[in-house]
Amino acid sequence: MRLFRKKADLQNYVQAKRNQGLTIGFVPTMGALHSGHLKLASQSIAMCDVTVVSIFVNPTQFNNKNDLEKYPRTIESDLEKLSDVDCDAVFLPNLEEIYPPNGTTKYYALGEIETLFEGKYRPGHFQGVCQVIDKLFFIVEPDKVFFGQKDYQQCMIVRKLISQTPDFRHIDMQIVPTEREENGLAKSSRNMLLQDEEKKLAPAIYEALVYIKANMKPGKVNEVLQHTTNALLAKGFKPDYVAIANADTLEPISDWDGSTPVIALIAAFLGNVRLIDNLILNTSS
Ligand code: AMP
Repeated sequence: MRLFRKKADLQNYVQAKRNQGLTIGFVPTMGALHSGHLKLASQSIAMCDVTVVSIFVNPTQFNNKNDLEKYPRTIESDLEKLSDVDCDAVFLPNLEEIYPPNGTTKYYALGEIETLFEGKYRPGHFQGVCQVIDKLFFIVEPDKVFFGQKDYQQCMIVRKLISQTPDFRHIDMQIVPTEREENGLAKSSRNMLLQDEEKKLAPAIYEALVYIKANMKPGKVNEVLQHTTNALLAKGFKPDYVAIANADTLEPISDWDGSTPVIALIAAFLGNVRLIDNLILNTSS
């Protein structure tokens, strides 16, 4: 496995592979890798000739300084895990490599989706996501990119960035289902920040999503949402949102027609740790 810290070196490597007619798969991450990240990498390895994984804790997508400071960093074990799954190349840039001191800041016109859910509770988050993804896609020039359904709204934002950027339009985006613990808890780098007692409570988020899916009927959705919010509050969670939304636009839904594809979304604090998860409730087919 090759390790690159400089974008020019990675670009030379990728260009040489492309000249050989090989396809490039790319998996952007912020490290503290778990089996969810490795599932993305494995899918890329299965579908592409060359797989590049980036590890970069992107400061511009953190709206909370404390969250950025305590974000877990486990580089040694990350590299071991990627080597074990036969990843071809890892990009491990420092801050200046991605954000040169005299660089300009681009603004991305993302529309209403940026004002909803994660966008609402983490102002500026998706601008930061687009800034780093734009730079990374430009450096790697991938054929396929792999993102996790766990960050569903992020997937929709990246899809928008791809469709709005002529240089990226050829990129095929693959969305990989959420990897979970046996108890249902979505794997997340932030899970390692949970205290032991909180770890036992954390699967309640997935249980709430499953409850919504089982009890969702056409008509008003308020009752099922109120029930799940109360259940989370009773366990000590502080929910930012418990919502049902149109799975294509992410517009919140209060009255379901029974056929529109919908998704349940939850974000909640457990102690100091903010957890998010989602479950698609139905599909159009
Ligand atoms: P992060 O390191 O949190 O920025 O995540 C990097 C990529 O891994 C993103 O596309 C995430 O959606 C994806 N990811 C994170 N957790 C999971 C999971 N539990 N299952 C599948 N993909 C995940």
